[in-house]
Amino acid sequence: MYDKIIDKDNKDSALKVQGAIEQPGQVNAEYLSKYKKKKELSIDEYVDGIIKGNRTILSKAITLVESSRYDHQAIAQEIIERCLPFAGKSIRLGITGVPGVGKSSVIESLGTMLTKTGHKVAVLAIDPSSERTKGSILGDKTRMEELSNDPNAFIRPSPSAGSLGGVARKTREIIILCEASGFDVVIVETVGVGQSEVVAHSMVDFFLLLQLANAGDELQGIKRGIMEMADAISINKAEGENKQKAEIAAGQYRNALHLFPSTESNWKPIVFTCSAYSNEGIDKIWETVNEYIILTKSNGYFHKKRNEQNLRILSESIDAHLKESFYSNPKIKESLIDIKKDILENKVSAYIAAQKLIDNYFGEIKG
Ligand code: GDP
Repeated sequence: MYDKIIDKDNKDSALKVQGAIEQPGQVNAEYLSKYKKKKELSIDEYVDGIIKGNRTILSKAITLVESSRYDHQAIAQEIIERCLPFAGKSIRLGITGVPGVGKSSVIESLGTMLTKTGHKVAVLAIDPSSERTKGSILGDKTRMEELSNDPNAFIRPSPSAGSLGGVARKTREIIILCEASGFDVVIVETVGVGQSEVVAHSMVDFFLLLQLANAGDELQGIKRGIMEMADAISINKAEGENKQKAEIAAGQYRNALHLFPSTESNWKPIVFTCSAYSNEGIDKIWETVNEYIILTKSNGYFHKKRNEQNLRILSESIDAHLKESFYSNPKIKESLIDIKKDILENKVSAYIAAQKLIDNYFGEIKG
């Protein structure tokens, strides 16, 4: 039997040494498709499962959200819509920092502390690098082992939606599903390089920046924008001999933050040290988040910020839909080819060409 599988005469064949195991006969294809169909869940079953905290169903719904297939998107949107009334009740916490600063270790430590005290923690990631480089900054290593086995935690890697906008949209939708499923703390992790931290900041209530104590040059190389977004900065790996250096760095950050204008929330960003190894300061993160939530809920900023975030989603969605509709219009697609040529040959200015295309597009959709 193996003679058929192994090409004995081919000295280079990798199959020469060991024969393959004979494969069982294929399952009847018709049966298979029926069986598969039977397993498909209805929207009611999805929503019911999510609300009852069924993790398998939650994962399946997230897969639909992440899918680029039109039919999957249609179901996903309906599920999200029906989950919305059950969402919004979590604390959304963003954590950023350069690779190696200890984000996953801190999340593991914080997440475990939270689940031990009765919280349900979802960890989502925003990592647009995964699509571009085919390897992600966040996801390559074995991460958060303890938390991944914790029944009260749910970890989902970044959707690989290509563009940052796509990843952002999907992550926001996944937050809704997780909240509807009873997760009362949602941690959004992102790498503090590029623009992904801006996007993460736009969907969380509280934003934590993790830093390291680097002898002498603490404040160099860190983007001012990130510091302005941070509600707290924590210097990680502050244990043993490193503790003192971390405290010095913390002092420098505190001084730097004094120079920043006061925030609309009335919250004064704070700086402290922590260690994911010794767990010192990890409780301080949660304490700080709670202080922030109490302050901003009492002065109205918490809801104002969430409302603003929602309105931003509205305008971003409109932008995305218009763009998609414009570029997928067959007439526009065709004219674009000629117009690009005309621009390259200096026959028409890019502004006039754009205006012409847009007029054509609106003419098209009118009638
Ligand atoms: P991430 O890339 O920001 O997610 O960082 P990781 O959590 O993967 O941590 C990067 C490296 O730093 C790993 O080798 C960790 O073991 C180590 N690390 C993380 N937190 C601490 C800490 O609190 N103290 C020490 N000494 N090392 C840490």
